[in-house]
Amino acid sequence: MLVIQPIGGKDDWEALFHEAGHTEHYANTSADLPMEARRLGDMAVTEGWAMLMQHLVTEPAWLNRRLDVPRVEELAHDGAVSLLYFVRRYAASCSTRSSSSRQRASRRCATATPRSSATR
Ligand SMILES: [Zn+2]
Repeated sequence: MLVIQPIGGKDDWEALFHEAGHTEHYANTSADLPMEARRLGDMAVTEGWAMLMQHLVTEPAWLNRRLDVPRVEELAHDGAVSLLYFVRRYAASCSTRSSSSRQRASRRCATATPRSSATR
């Protein structure tokens, strides 16, 4: 079952297609795999399927071929701006986490290093 809470507009279509990507991924994952391989694997795989489907909603060639949508170029531009926003947001998040991890590791290292070792 695929459920989204509609709010109207392109975001609904992106959410629907994103979740449909997850559905496709899990529906086409072999039932012969062990449970942990089917459900607990690398999340990048299912997110890749989801993003692939989600971005169809702002892909001009796909929109022209499959749907009768007005303002295709406007949708494509909006999709590109939205993608740029999220790439910047996630890059900043990774950068912050990476920086925090380095600071924690540095503190652990400083704490673990005996003060007397500097004088040896
Ligand atoms: Zn997702």
